[in-house]
Amino acid sequence: MTVIVYIALGSNLDDPAIHVRRACQELGALPQTCCLQYSCLYQSTPHGSSDQPDYINAVAELETELPPNELLSMLQALEQSHGRVRTGEHWGPRPLDLDILLYGDQQIDGPDLQIPHPYMAERAFVLYPLAELVSDLNIPGFGLLSELLQSCPAEGLEPLNDLRN
Ligand code: AMP
Repeated sequence: MTVIVYIALGSNLDDPAIHVRRACQELGALPQTCCLQYSCLYQSTPHGSSDQPDYINAVAELETELPPNELLSMLQALEQSHGRVRTGEHWGPRPLDLDILLYGDQQIDGPDLQIPHPYMAERAFVLYPLAELVSDLNIPGFGLLSELLQSCPAEGLEPLNDLRN
């Protein structure tokens, strides 16, 4: 069974745009997976500790046959291959962060995996790139993307060059 999934990408270390562009290619090369489209790159001011560089963000739309936990493991392996070391700091700087935003219309509430991603509804750097890829979307537990956008100003978020070029 194939499922449409949305992945948020973020980086704020070691030439972040290169990490995000490379990771988009790598997501499409995961087993049993193809990348359907990805958003532009965005620059965003850091969430949490502001004593760190700005982030580069994007969202990718994938079609996959991987079950959610296998997909999560592969994303974590990709993060590590980009030099990410888990320090326990929740919103600290990182060369690559990959989050599963949506996995079809499934809701998952496990100890290691929550889908939809619990913070996605309040993060401009997730909602605006996601809105580039879909005309509208009902996000299970949160409601319509178009309505979430109305209560989430795009402050601190700047679209950059088109990742697809
Ligand atoms: P972060 O520091 O944002 O990379 O958080 C990583 C942790 O979040 C990992 O230990 C994951 O098990 C957990 N996690 C829970 N839900 C998700 C999700 N939807 N996507 C990615 N990681 C998740």
